[in-house]
Amino acid sequence: MKKELIGLSKEELSEELTLIGEKPFRAKQLWQWIYFRGETDFDKMSNLSKDLRAKLKENYTISRPKIVTEQLSSDKTRKWLLEFADEQRIETVYIPEEDRGAVCISTQVGCAVGCKFCHTGSQKITRNLTAGEIVAQFMVARDAYGEWPSPTNETRFLSNIVVMGMGEPLHNKEEVFKALKILSDGDGIAISKRRITLSTSGIVPHIESVASELGVKLAISLHAPNNEKRSQIMPINNRYKIEEVLSACQKYQAIMGMSRMITFEYLMLDHFNDTMDDVKELISLMKKFKLGAKFNLIPFNPWPGCDFKPSSNNRVHAFSKALESAGYEAPIRVARGQDILAACGQLKSKNS
Ligand code: SAH
Ligand code: SF4
Repeated sequence: MKKELIGLSKEELSEELTLIGEKPFRAKQLWQWIYFRGETDFDKMSNLSKDLRAKLKENYTISRPKIVTEQLSSDKTRKWLLEFADEQRIETVYIPEEDRGAVCISTQVGCAVGCKFCHTGSQKITRNLTAGEIVAQFMVARDAYGEWPSPTNETRFLSNIVVMGMGEPLHNKEEVFKALKILSDGDGIAISKRRITLSTSGIVPHIESVASELGVKLAISLHAPNNEKRSQIMPINNRYKIEEVLSACQKYQAIMGMSRMITFEYLMLDHFNDTMDDVKELISLMKKFKLGAKFNLIPFNPWPGCDFKPSSNNRVHAFSKALESAGYEAPIRVARGQDILAACGQLKSKNS
């Protein structure tokens, strides 16, 4: 069987070339074809010899996952249901803003964390995605917008990456980190690490390494002001308590610098975590840890079979105001792509 090249690190690509009797420096040219130009046809790689192209064709593929469906929301959010060789499926979302846009990528088929409010979490875990499968999601999105070769100016459609799709990225750390290194490599796709955000439910032992091994932005799914409430909606909190998560965040910030704000995602659940008492408790918790922090208040996106209800607008605004008076930025996230179930927590792997 031919080997897929997408997802190999630069070093691995050089090794492959050595294996077929080529000089390793060819790897740089090949890397640029794959990740800078988005080329999938070896025959079009004009600066490689005919002989090398033939050898590559014989041994390797550069492919994309199968696009099962592509949906466009009335607000221009786009969602792909993608299928891999073993017929496992995941979703990838593109969320355009006025002069840029973020690709929201998945890291696992399903998720083992099982948060009560999350559609992905209700599906259990099937498997981790490989680095290649993670990188390919971004490439599918770029194909759709014809954004090859990698634009050098700041006005790109696909300017940011958020690791906020299906799955818990820090349960698949090795492949996720490898993928993000490929995606941020300056000779290829070149999305700067400042424009990549990894969101986690709080897998404490790996949080510091997001800074030490990778250097991308960090978002924490906090969603509650104390352990009692958080454990009710996020079973992972029985393993890693809020205080441990926040201490790990301090270590992240000790490496990245205080100015690199950590975003705390807070899902607004009606009559569960949205009162003035809740926000007061949240503020005093945060003050104790002295983090460079901002909040992102997320309106709950309902899905069939989930009992939670979104908080009222009044409560969300009051919550946001209270956080702002305490010195934290606390924008309210506008739900995008709801008509095609592309919003946070709505992604799934079955096409039903
Ligand atoms: N597993 C990681 C990243 C994927 S989830 C994490 O949990 O952080 C991305 C974000 O969507 C998280 O903040 C998650 O809590 C949020 N989310 C999950 N279900 C949601 C829902 N139904 N409505 C709104 N946001 C949701
Ligand atoms: Fe997994 Fe994140 Fe969903 Fe929780 S919110 S179940 S961690 S994907």
